[in-house]
Amino acid sequence: MNLKTFVLGPLNTNCYVLWDGGEALVIDPGGDPSQVIEFLKRNNLSLKYIIATHGHFDHVLGVKSLKRVGGRFLMNLKDVDLMPLYYDWKELPPEPDDELSDGAELRIGSLTAMAISTPGHTMGSTSILVEQSLFTGDTLFKGTVGRYDLGGDRDSLRATLEKIKTMKVTDIFPGHGEKSTLRDEIVSNPFLNGVLGPDDW
Ligand SMILES: [Zn+2]
Repeated sequence: MNLKTFVLGPLNTNCYVLWDGGEALVIDPGGDPSQVIEFLKRNNLSLKYIIATHGHFDHVLGVKSLKRVGGRFLMNLKDVDLMPLYYDWKELPPEPDDELSDGAELRIGSLTAMAISTPGHTMGSTSILVEQSLFTGDTLFKGTVGRYDLGGDRDSLRATLEKIKTMKVTDIFPGHGEKSTLRDEIVSNPFLNGVLGPDDW
């Protein structure tokens, strides 16, 4: 898997570029995507998909500018109403071109990216599985998990974390902060290792 990470926007969102065979997919362009566009051009990559793991503004801020170089914008439609919230937009991002539904498979070159529904942080939150790497958005971070009070739901987040624990995943690429591994999170993340019980959060 070819992967390049950019940290974009006011909340330092991890924007991931994956590519294969001349085609690229961008996850969470959370700010001015100029560096991403330059990178795509320099490497002769055709942008096929722009994916938002969820609808919070800091994951979709750069969608409109990035779309000028091409690509279909995909997001779970449950999160469309979240996009205008929590930010003073000059111009809202475009509506998704397609639904990013659970199990959807996207091809870039010979790679397959699969959408996995992971509700909780928001009800439309979706993780992206590529080979054995999981791009978790704000669902799971190194050492912690995303909040559930900005359009999400705690019980759904708990169920999602249990589901992720059972997945055949090695690397975790979160929406903010450092990357991790699922193994490390299961051992040391208090939201996954049982240190925080059901009454604690
Ligand atoms: Zn978020």
